[in-house]
Amino acid sequence: MDCHEVEGLLDAYQDRELEPALSVSVRLHVDVCAACRGRLANVEGIGRMIRRAPYYQAPEALRARLTQDRPRPRATSQLLVWAAAAVLVVSVTGSILFVRSSTRAARTADPVDAVAQEIVSSHVRALMGEHLFDVRSTDQHTVKPWCLGKLDFSPPVKDLVQAGFPLTGGRLDYVEGHPVAALVYTRGQHTINVFVWPEPSGAARSSDARAIRGFHLRHWTRAGMSYWAVSDVNDAELDQFVHALQP
Ligand SMILES: [Zn+2]
Repeated sequence: MDCHEVEGLLDAYQDRELEPALSVSVRLHVDVCAACRGRLANVEGIGRMIRRAPYYQAPEALRARLTQDRPRPRATSQLLVWAAAAVLVVSVTGSILFVRSSTRAARTADPVDAVAQEIVSSHVRALMGEHLFDVRSTDQHTVKPWCLGKLDFSPPVKDLVQAGFPLTGGRLDYVEGHPVAALVYTRGQHTINVFVWPEPSGAARSSDARAIRGFHLRHWTRAGMSYWAVSDVNDAELDQFVHALQP
């Protein structure tokens, strides 16, 4: 065994990882070779240093957080879904905030807030081109009968072209698992989605305003119907729209 071979085995020799026969060969060489003895001393020195190096305990808080944040298997697959959604959203709206707040939405406890989050998600999905129209028409006399044929209620359909918010169509959508009417209005390049469903118990309520993920929302109930309007138009324009929509 020559110096070169021995040199390549010193680490394993020092760690007692060599086959007994190989280990003996290294031992015999080192006994007679000052250069390799020096190298072995070096390797042993490094080994001692490593063994003597202090181990730092992770602070309790950090340890707790690491344990907590470890994703459970189910959370992982959900993460993948969100990741896929993120790619879509980033390409369409250039915003990853959607995914982050959607995840937050899933945890929300307030039922009205949960509906609001769902409305915004629905609006975003529609804008992403998944499904904005079932019936594309600027004619309320076309949209209304279409809704009637698909739903067991008749949403009030009103063209607001005079007010600067032309009706462009409608579709069947789902909120909290129930079929709802989604009426689509436009303001310039902007889309306003109005979600309507019956809410017999709902007392007439004036507009509830909120903003989620950069979208403005208005919610009100009137004549046994629940309304949600959502858009990226500014607050003033959305108020103007809601005012125009109410008889
Ligand atoms: Zn040697």
